[in-house]
Amino acid sequence: MKNFTITGGEKTPFLTWYTEGLKEKFSTEGYEFCEEPVDDIRIVFNVIEQEKPRPFRRKAQATFVVSILEKNEEPENIFETAYPYLIRSLANHLIFIVNNKEKTDVYFITPEQGFYKLSYQSEEKDFFQKIYERLEPVASAQLVIDNHFANNLDQNLWNGNNITQKMYASGKKLDEMNLLPAPFPLDKYLSSRDMRQLKKLYGIGGLSYGNLSSRHDDKSFWMSASGVNKANMRVIGQDILYINGYNPKKNAMEISVPPRISPKRASVDAIEHWMIYKEHPKVGAIVHIHAWMDGITATEINYPCGTIQLAETVADLVRRADDPSRAVIGLKNHGLTITGRDLDDIFERIEGQVITQVPSA
Ligand SMILES: [Zn+2]
Repeated sequence: MKNFTITGGEKTPFLTWYTEGLKEKFSTEGYEFCEEPVDDIRIVFNVIEQEKPRPFRRKAQATFVVSILEKNEEPENIFETAYPYLIRSLANHLIFIVNNKEKTDVYFITPEQGFYKLSYQSEEKDFFQKIYERLEPVASAQLVIDNHFANNLDQNLWNGNNITQKMYASGKKLDEMNLLPAPFPLDKYLSSRDMRQLKKLYGIGGLSYGNLSSRHDDKSFWMSASGVNKANMRVIGQDILYINGYNPKKNAMEISVPPRISPKRASVDAIEHWMIYKEHPKVGAIVHIHAWMDGITATEINYPCGTIQLAETVADLVRRADDPSRAVIGLKNHGLTITGRDLDDIFERIEGQVITQVPSA
């Protein structure tokens, strides 16, 4: 169902104009406007206030919430000021408007720490068209984040093997290379009720950035779990997960864990890694970092992590690479996904080459 609503706090004249513009554009493009949010609403524009950014509480996982906040002066560091509002309002996307007399800058911020800007000059005709083109594909992407755990991991693997030891060493190396930014301190900004909702609806245990995986055999691979400290991955079933496949009926990743463990969720990018391993038998390892390299091919749209669309787009670029088993793919406003024959092969190719700052585009 393509529908949307606009909700939240009081609007300034600018915000009234802005949300009316969004309403008109999305309506013209075939989205049905709902005065009140229905349970399975697809897109919610939620106007929030600086002092008390009230979250919109979703009823369905498929609901994509865009918080909108207006400020009249430009903060010193826009990203650092804006990001906590995205978190506190439990949104999938934040539109952060800096509106001063001379000009209006509209920043778009994602949970993956993506960050880009559109400037608005008055009388500009295609402003809402530009916003629509940026936002709609992202908002309508489908999340694949369910996990199905089975306590059936082979006993020989309960304490890992040489592959998981290599992953432990590689995670440490990423940290030494300064490629593991500190996880965002979610609990500093959110109540336990909000944390629960975040876990349930986004499937994330914490916002830490990046992940890595390594093939086990032709059907399965090991991958870092969601939200864990990648510099210290030791426990099988919690830090490192054994992923068996994807179950299209349940729309879930299949994960085998040792008995008597409360498992952590799979990284939201597990579906993407699964697609790549399945298609390219020579790919032995995959690393995803929030960093960049010069001269690489990149995705056009910044689909959210954990969506089928991001997975398919990256898998497609890997397929088109000169050597799919040694590809470096840019994820616009987000980071890199790198394939290799094994983890060593990846590190040999990226050491000294990576730029820790992802360019905003
Ligand atoms: Zn990422």
